[in-house]
Amino acid sequence: MKQHERVTLLGSTGSIGVQTLDIVRHHPDRFSVYALVAHSRWEELARQAVEFNARRVVIGDERYYDNLKTRLAGSGIEVLAGSEAICEVASDEACDLVVNALVGYAGLHPTLAAIHSRKRIALANKETLVVGGDIVMSEARRMGVDILPIDSEHSAIMQCLEGEKRQSIKNLIVTCSGGALRDMTKEELQSVTPEMALRHPQWSMGAKITIDSATLVNKGFEVIEARWLFDIEPERIKVIIHPQSIVHSMVEFTDGSVKAQLGNADMRTPISYAMLYPERSAIAMEEFSILDYPTLTFKAVDHDKYPALGIAYDCLHRGGTAPCTMNGSNEVAVAAFLGHKCAFTDIVGAIEYALKRAEFTAVPSMEDYDRANIEARALAKEYLKLK
Ligand code: NAD
Ligand code: MG
Repeated sequence: MKQHERVTLLGSTGSIGVQTLDIVRHHPDRFSVYALVAHSRWEELARQAVEFNARRVVIGDERYYDNLKTRLAGSGIEVLAGSEAICEVASDEACDLVVNALVGYAGLHPTLAAIHSRKRIALANKETLVVGGDIVMSEARRMGVDILPIDSEHSAIMQCLEGEKRQSIKNLIVTCSGGALRDMTKEELQSVTPEMALRHPQWSMGAKITIDSATLVNKGFEVIEARWLFDIEPERIKVIIHPQSIVHSMVEFTDGSVKAQLGNADMRTPISYAMLYPERSAIAMEEFSILDYPTLTFKAVDHDKYPALGIAYDCLHRGGTAPCTMNGSNEVAVAAFLGHKCAFTDIVGAIEYALKRAEFTAVPSMEDYDRANIEARALAKEYLKLK
């Protein structure tokens, strides 16, 4: 049994954050909370900090600092604000494990800060690897840091690869539910509303990733994530549609054998796997019975209907700042779509527009990523005619 770990949880008020706290709640001997971070929901953050007796809290949006500080006065909990403070609690000596459940580009710098302070990292923030997978993984190797994926597909692949040799891997097969709009025609997609796209049939997740699932940008990001996590060429990462979300992904081996990981669509399984690895949680999640799923189906992706997946493969081949440009423009377009400021199909339009015009850096530094992210966001706004 591993020793007790003090956890810094980035994004504690989000979908993954709340489920992570559920794992902590069920394993009091194994985990305690060192620091919690959220963007704006200060009341929920304060409540969590008191329940878990956190030492420090950070509110990303500094406008809520005073409210949070007043609410926690006399509690002994230290209150901080802003992005530098997020990096500080992710790298503090008093923490052992960083769970990064932030959404978007905001997750990149804290992941690197945690790597440079040799923390164990459970990573839900896939944008970290989409934007800077090359730098992040090479820095993690250099520092001897483990990055354990929380994304269900990558957790499945990691589980399938346990005990296997690198040279035995033929292909990684990433499964894809198809998102909320999978049964619509290309024409019907033009008039989709945020409410329709937010109704994911299997997973209950944050708004951004639910929209990314509907465009298949999320699956494209997962291909990029897999490329860096498992150090495998893009050509050997395949995506197939599997509407039931029971097979979480598969690995095909050189001898013709295929391993798959199955289970309910419950993120607490991959979250606890990453946090407790190499042990498994004993907490009772809803029981899984294969008899409930007599028919599991699989089919190829319709690339004409979902151009985002092909764009992600192209970005991976181009390398450099291309995936960062895709990510930044997507973030702006998804927020615009959620705010009823553009059409669903404008999301991919904005990504294509930004990729055509952005300055390209083949071997980027962290400063280049910051610059490319700002440029991508500005290009997406230009395309969407937003201020
Ligand atoms: P969410 O929107 O529900 O939560 C995001 C959290 O991050 C919130 O606590 C928010 O306050 C915080 N946050 C966002 N921006 C911040 C900033 N600038 N500063 C400080 N805090 C900030 O998102 P989610 O669905 O939990 O997803 C989190 C990450 O996990 C994403 O990268 C997503 O792609 C990935 N992921 C999520 C799921 C899922 O089931 N929700 C599954 C796989 C991967
Ligand atoms: Mg996933």
